[in-house]
Amino acid sequence: MAEHHDVQHHDVIVVGAGPSGAAAAFWLARSGWDVVLVEKKRFPRAKTCGDGLTPRAVRQLEDMGALAGVASAHRYGGMRAIGFGRTMELAWPHHPSFPSIGYVVRRSELDLAVAEAAVAAGASWRQGSSAAPLRDSRGTVTGVVATDVEQGGRTEILARYVVVADGANSRFGRALGAERTRTWPLGMALRGYWRSDRSGEPWIESQLELRDQTGRLVPGYGWVFPLGDGRVNVGVGLLASSDTWKGTNTSSLLEGFLADAARRWQFDAAAPEGEPTGGKLPMGLSVRPVQGSRHLLVGDAAGGINPFNGEGIAYGYETGRLAAWAVGEALATGDSTALAEYPRRLDRLYGTYYRFGREFVRLIGHPKALEVAVGTAMRSRSMMTWAVRLMANLMRPEDTGPAEGAFRSLAGLSDLLSREGQGPPLA
Ligand SMILES: Cc1cc2nc3c(=O)[nH]c(=O)nc-3n(C[C@H](O)[C@H](O)[C@H](O)COP(=O)(O)OP(=O)(O)OC[C@H]3O[C@@H](n4cnc5c(N)ncnc54)[C@H](O)[C@@H]3O)c2cc1C
Repeated sequence: MAEHHDVQHHDVIVVGAGPSGAAAAFWLARSGWDVVLVEKKRFPRAKTCGDGLTPRAVRQLEDMGALAGVASAHRYGGMRAIGFGRTMELAWPHHPSFPSIGYVVRRSELDLAVAEAAVAAGASWRQGSSAAPLRDSRGTVTGVVATDVEQGGRTEILARYVVVADGANSRFGRALGAERTRTWPLGMALRGYWRSDRSGEPWIESQLELRDQTGRLVPGYGWVFPLGDGRVNVGVGLLASSDTWKGTNTSSLLEGFLADAARRWQFDAAAPEGEPTGGKLPMGLSVRPVQGSRHLLVGDAAGGINPFNGEGIAYGYETGRLAAWAVGEALATGDSTALAEYPRRLDRLYGTYYRFGREFVRLIGHPKALEVAVGTAMRSRSMMTWAVRLMANLMRPEDTGPAEGAFRSLAGLSDLLSREGQGPPLA
């Protein structure tokens, strides 16, 4: 057994310094709690991502005062949707709570800026240390063993609470008994960087008609997100949870998409900057339970990605903030049952939306329904304007009614298609 050289004590340990962990650490430190952020890698570190920030993410960065730290962020005003022979530029909507802008920024820079904001607010930051749970005899987490990734030394860190923010694979969360519901939406995505003269464009682009090598329409989209520095982030994402799409090869999807994208964005598809890399996108808060007696799961570790569009950064910031609030309550009152407010707030904030998201994913896993839904929407600017608000979770309270109505009719359509024997049942 390796020796523990050192024991430290804190109010809270946050495991992982991505968007969710850095936000949790920021909000805890801002409230005056003694928090340590334990991160396996040394920053700046790359993270496989589309690098796209929507207005929800921008709002959180503004609230943390972290935007100044991302000087090279490329600002854009909306999305260009392409598909079924049409192209539509759709500006971000006006919303009472969110700005009408987004940014494209490399994660190496973005994640460093937010972690530094947490440190400036008073958090300690231990980089290059991989955390594993420490538990008492009842299995309750009491802290972590942090192993120095380069030197191999181990430190015991004890804390009253632990926030688990270790990303999509979340070994830490799984060790504490969390599980992903396998029938719920899971995305797979692959992206790379290319040099393009159009890198300064003020629009991100999504190709909603993505086809596999046999010409079949795939539930997902291809994207080109301009970074404003001579490069574009190009990738494909697909919803891989239904049987029809399990095992779909994202490399060949990307290859197919690149032919079109390279022509439009004037880059050489054969000359990426480094090999494209991919990852999993656990969606719809599919990981449960998100709360233990002394810990909470946030961000991708909780499966927090939006099933409508594959966006996870904003939900990392938001769930990190909600968890910080609940942990702060537990610390202030000395009553750990305050942690139970976290899953309640998650349900209040995302429950209905993510339930619709699961329906939506079931629906578009059905090729015919996907074709009808996207093909129809792309013929109408007002439908696409509404769809963008829905997909990016920028609805106003008055939109919820029409959104529900539209969903019922889509669900009805998918039932009908199934009964007519045009595809597998969706439910
Ligand atoms: C190809 C692809 C494209 C995407 N595109 C977008 C996009 O354009 N916009 C968007 O909003 N979202 C996008 N996402 C989703 C987004 O990347 C994630 O939702 C987001 O990174 C989640 O943040 P997180 O903090 O929960 O986890 P992560 O960002 O994964 O951070 C987890 C951190 O924990 C650290 N860690 C892991 N284990 C340990 C341990 N044991 N001890 C200490 N540290 C540990 C890791 O090193 C890492 O720094 C994309 C995902 C993929 C795969």
